[in-house]
Amino acid sequence: MKYSELAQLYEKLGATTKKLEKRDILAEFYKKASDLSIIVKLSQGIIGVDFGVAKQMMKDVIKKAYGASDSEIIHKFKETGDLGKVAEYFTSHRKQRTLQHHELSVRKVYENLMKLPSLTGQGSVERKVDLIAELLSNASSSEARYIVRTVIGDLRVGVAEGIIRDAIAKAFNQESKDVERAYDFLGDYGEVAERASKGKIKAEIEIGKPVRVMLAERSKGLKEALEKFENPALELKYDGFRLSIHKEGKDVWLYSRRNENVTKQFPELVEFARSNIKAKECIIEGEVLAVDKHGRSLPFQRLSRRVQRKYHIEKMSIEIPIQMNFFDIIYLNGKNMMHEKLSVRWHALKKIIKQVKEKFQLAEHIETKNLKQAEKFYAYSLKKGQEGLIIKNLDAFYQPGKRVGYWLKVKPILEPLDLVIVGGEWGEGKRTKWLGSLLLACKGKGKFLETAKMGSGLTEKQLEEMTRKLKSLIIEEHGNHVIIKPKIVIEVGYEEIQRSPKYPTGYALRFPRLLRLREQEKTADDVNTLHDIEKLFNQQKKVRS
Ligand code: AMP
Repeated sequence: MKYSELAQLYEKLGATTKKLEKRDILAEFYKKASDLSIIVKLSQGIIGVDFGVAKQMMKDVIKKAYGASDSEIIHKFKETGDLGKVAEYFTSHRKQRTLQHHELSVRKVYENLMKLPSLTGQGSVERKVDLIAELLSNASSSEARYIVRTVIGDLRVGVAEGIIRDAIAKAFNQESKDVERAYDFLGDYGEVAERASKGKIKAEIEIGKPVRVMLAERSKGLKEALEKFENPALELKYDGFRLSIHKEGKDVWLYSRRNENVTKQFPELVEFARSNIKAKECIIEGEVLAVDKHGRSLPFQRLSRRVQRKYHIEKMSIEIPIQMNFFDIIYLNGKNMMHEKLSVRWHALKKIIKQVKEKFQLAEHIETKNLKQAEKFYAYSLKKGQEGLIIKNLDAFYQPGKRVGYWLKVKPILEPLDLVIVGGEWGEGKRTKWLGSLLLACKGKGKFLETAKMGSGLTEKQLEEMTRKLKSLIIEEHGNHVIIKPKIVIEVGYEEIQRSPKYPTGYALRFPRLLRLREQEKTADDVNTLHDIEKLFNQQKKVRS
């Protein structure tokens, strides 16, 4: 299929704000599309892939593809605030098109783009620039606009995951809920669409393919959480990193909560999985922690160094030992365990794990409705440096990808909030090269709503690191204010939530401070909601009165 047809699709999608219209436009397109899987992935702008191309690099691409000068590019960018439009402008004002100009196919664009993430190290910048510039030099002006926007992860056509799901359902006569279920097991709408187009939507778990994980809801308190379920189980809420382990014979895969393959980063877990799981095939879940040599858990930041590490992994596994705590099983020897109650799953999990104390073990788990006992367990968790408890309904099935209230988290109130960075201000004086204060937002009313400004409290090293991460996400600059693409999620502590007309939420955080970056575990979609903030505000009133 020609890329120009996809560019026309983007135009149509961008021209309406109505979700149903967008769904219908997409469904029609999917019906007649060749390269369906690629088209579906591109129609949302290839999410979940980091091309490693910052704004500055994109300016270099534009320079190379069109022979434009820095000042021309900066001028056009200031005017439009959209590098896609900048590329479009230079395409239409191009003096001459390359002699061997080829019409772009969807496949060619996709292939060039998918080469980008794996390019690292020496010479990789030039190769990235070349790959994108090659596309731009063959592109028409509207094609150029969308290629650039896809690479910088800001397609601006307003297509969310739900619209893709409904469009696939409509195009191939399926129920939306079946499409979503298939997505739960395949983690990729491109593959789901392929199967739907062949009428084979009945997806099942496949070992080695990441499954969307079940999520927890917040609870008001321990007492309320215990009362919710007839048969509650209480587990420590470990302050670590969620991992799913897939095992098939000697083959082992590890996936993060966001479905990234992190097998290489934890070789010792792969070994443990081979020798200490007594099952031929299974998918089990737990939380991995970084620990010191006495088995005490270490701050999350230490663990994140292991997750990010791509080289010298063996050395790292000695420097930062880990501990795995299992809490669920969703597949066992050919059987999907999601449809079993937690009580059955927990029993099955216990049977297959050969525990190694402090290294490869079951999560600490008690079953009681007694508040006194629960309180003791809660205090024990906090004393151990964990986050609190998760109270689980032993009679509930596993619900992938959902927060349905079968797992309730209980953490101390005035618990930190997960917020996304949406803006900032360049510092003053000695700090002009850093983004000194950051604007933070929660989710609400279908968008991100600002609710706090986090200024002081960052060390110079943190400021530098944060600025480096945020620079490539800057969408617009007005004087010393910048608007930032909502991507980086941070955990924020604060003294108090106050009512405030200054923010669209109506609430402000007093003394917000950075606790940690959560970019490996959470996407902007996972941040706290306005509803959470309202709830915390009300709880805080109760506690203080
Ligand atoms: P939150 O990230 O605050 O939404 O809390 C849910 C997360 O807690 C899960 O995704 C897990 O990573 C983590 N967690 C820690 N301990 C447990 C446990 N015993 N059961 C389930 N999730 C746990």
